[in-house]
Amino acid sequence: MKNTLYLSILFLASCASNMPSVTTPEIKPTKSDITIEDFKTHIEFLSSDELQGRGAGTEGDKIAVSYIKQRFYDAAPNKGKIEVQEHYVFKDRRQKKDKVLTYNVIGYLVGNDEKLKDEFVVIGGHYDTTANALGKINNGADDNASGTSMVIELFEKFAATNNHKRTLVFMAFGGEELGLLGSKYFVNNPTIDLDKVHLMVNLDMVGRMEENNVQLGGAASAENFSSRLHPFLMEDNVNVIELGEGIFSRSDHYNFYKKNIPVLFFFTGVHEDYHKPSDDSDKINYDGMKSISNMVEGIVEEFANTSDRLVFKSVEQEQTMQTPSRMKVTLGVIPDYSYDGKGVKIESTIDNRPGKTAGMLDGDIVIKIQDLVIVDIYKYMEAFSLIEPSATAEITVLRGEEEVVLNVQF
Ligand SMILES: [Zn+2]
Repeated sequence: MKNTLYLSILFLASCASNMPSVTTPEIKPTKSDITIEDFKTHIEFLSSDELQGRGAGTEGDKIAVSYIKQRFYDAAPNKGKIEVQEHYVFKDRRQKKDKVLTYNVIGYLVGNDEKLKDEFVVIGGHYDTTANALGKINNGADDNASGTSMVIELFEKFAATNNHKRTLVFMAFGGEELGLLGSKYFVNNPTIDLDKVHLMVNLDMVGRMEENNVQLGGAASAENFSSRLHPFLMEDNVNVIELGEGIFSRSDHYNFYKKNIPVLFFFTGVHEDYHKPSDDSDKINYDGMKSISNMVEGIVEEFANTSDRLVFKSVEQEQTMQTPSRMKVTLGVIPDYSYDGKGVKIESTIDNRPGKTAGMLDGDIVIKIQDLVIVDIYKYMEAFSLIEPSATAEITVLRGEEEVVLNVQF
């Protein structure tokens, strides 16, 4: 089987136009367990210069699709079904010029429960990159070879464990960088009954965790979702920052959300290599990816088996432009995301972390950090993006009616 894959890729490479010929990095075997080594294997393949990026309609696009399909196939020969959805996109979407073919790769793992197997949990991420520019290759290691690799690893794991009553649908979308076009095409041409989709988990840029922070969007898209998620977000040394009451609209989960499907979006944040040729595999935080995949695996397993179906909830506002700042320091607390007043309410403080050490209590409401008035989680994150590690800062909290000033040592 590997030989046919190798041969087909060689054939594709030989038809390359004027670019130096696309060659194929070695395809290493992977295990069914989710391992850092396997993340490396997938990311180094997908973000290799040999592919010359995975822009829609390019050779690299086709090779990436073959790679993902092969991985799904190798992991679930008879338990699953693999499908490639083709769709056309305009490389120049403003002028509606340069129409090319791109794909969605879909791998199904049928549920083991007679009734619930007709319901679905979708796990997805886009595999394409932005187009190369000025003869430089956009390798897209973090955006989004990281998410694609996590989709493949989760597929391999669940194919091996088969511990899911609902059917799991794993998707790698093409055309995301051109306007979420792959997921849009799928929800408008669904291969499954969208009314039966219980949850969609989107993994887009999960490879650059810093300061142990991972941002989580979508917890407001179902009733009591945030509290039902908490047991699965307790990974050691990871701060999960729930992105408040809004829905981040700039990635593939948004198209599922617009179909009234509860969604989650894992994201380690924007960085200086975003959409640049410098978004390379040697900058990936693989330990961070392992921690995130542990949380995602727990969440998928829970919602693939629970009889207590999520109830979709539309959110008031949608976050478009407000990209969360990258925090340099953290308090070591869990904010109360059900609180919608001014400031950020602290649900729980963690031992031996700056907040608790400075005397912060559960229930305190952070209203000022240094001189910055804190109205919401964004101002809170902005404030912590301005404080250097090991600095001290004055934080004012509202404790009942009283304002208390705490000196926090980071
Ligand atoms: Zn992306």
